[in-house]
Amino acid sequence: MTHDQRVRWLRCEDPTELESLWARADAVRREQVGDEVHLRGLIEISNRCARRCAYCGIRAGAEVERYTMPVADVLACAAQAAEFGYGTVVVQAGEGPAVRREYVRAIIDGIRTTPETAELAITLSLGERTPDELSEWKAAGADRYLLRFETSDPTLFDRIHPDRSDGGAGRFAALATLRALGYEVGSGVMVGIPGQTWEMLAADVERFAALDLDMIGLGPYLPDPDTPLGRDPRPAGAEQAPNDELTTYKTLALARLVCPRTNIPSTTALATVNKTSGRERGLQRGANVVMPNLTPPAYRSKYTIYPSKACLSETAAHCRGCMRRRIESIGRTVGTGRGDSPNLQRAR
Ligand code: SAH
Repeated sequence: MTHDQRVRWLRCEDPTELESLWARADAVRREQVGDEVHLRGLIEISNRCARRCAYCGIRAGAEVERYTMPVADVLACAAQAAEFGYGTVVVQAGEGPAVRREYVRAIIDGIRTTPETAELAITLSLGERTPDELSEWKAAGADRYLLRFETSDPTLFDRIHPDRSDGGAGRFAALATLRALGYEVGSGVMVGIPGQTWEMLAADVERFAALDLDMIGLGPYLPDPDTPLGRDPRPAGAEQAPNDELTTYKTLALARLVCPRTNIPSTTALATVNKTSGRERGLQRGANVVMPNLTPPAYRSKYTIYPSKACLSETAAHCRGCMRRRIESIGRTVGTGRGDSPNLQRAR
């Protein structure tokens, strides 16, 4: 598929034509990664953040009560993941020195030295960190790292990250470091960022392929009125890619076609724009992973990266049952084991 064809798919509004895109993405998903849907238990360990991302509800200076989960609470969540049969925990937080290197190390060590959790895959999602930190965490037993590049357009990147002026180079450098260190590497974008054109979104998809990603996370941009981007969006006129459900599915389907063996979650942001069936539609249009939330509700309610987030007040046990039902309702099976990236296994 050429760049122009991708742009054409992104712009396509014809339901019959789109059915053929969904069918292609679903067929490639089935052939390349199978019918299993892998569950990753998400633990939002801290909302402390040093960055000022213009879209994010927990950026530095935002009016939100800050927390960092005690290590013991994080390990209790990991034990719950193991008990629920999840093969992976995803440890996510804001970015910066307040999420201390030693703290993350203690979490990894705790998971690895507790017999019940020792076999879990550990995915980190802690923003841009130094090569030294990434190396220490890998050596301690972290397996995977998620770091979205958010947009491949350098000018747009700088606009939505007013505390940076590197056009995203820091994120791409970190992704290269992660690859060199032997992590499974995940990245992704938000769909429909004000100022993001169809062309840019097609280029984002092409960047997924160039990075040979093992995991791709993408969801609609959800405006928060209490953020700079929410207050002053400045869209790109007729060329603006919408932040809607349909555009997200199209991007997801194209991501599956360019990275056939990658792991792709049907994200919470997608479930937020369609609480009834967003998760299922994502799984039927290229995705093969879901990330049930394990964060205890008292912390979860403070991890407000965007408004009206799905599953905000549910308990971990509720999320578990809900995800299983949704997966089985569309004739898929719940994955067993760690669900390592078929993409990286092939590369090795
Ligand atoms: N601090 C970590 C984790 C960030 S939260 C990091 O920087 O990587 C994970 C993802 O949530 C972000 O990468 C971003 O793509 C998404 N996100 C943040 N704010 C959002 C919003 N308003 N709407 C949609 N997605 C958002």
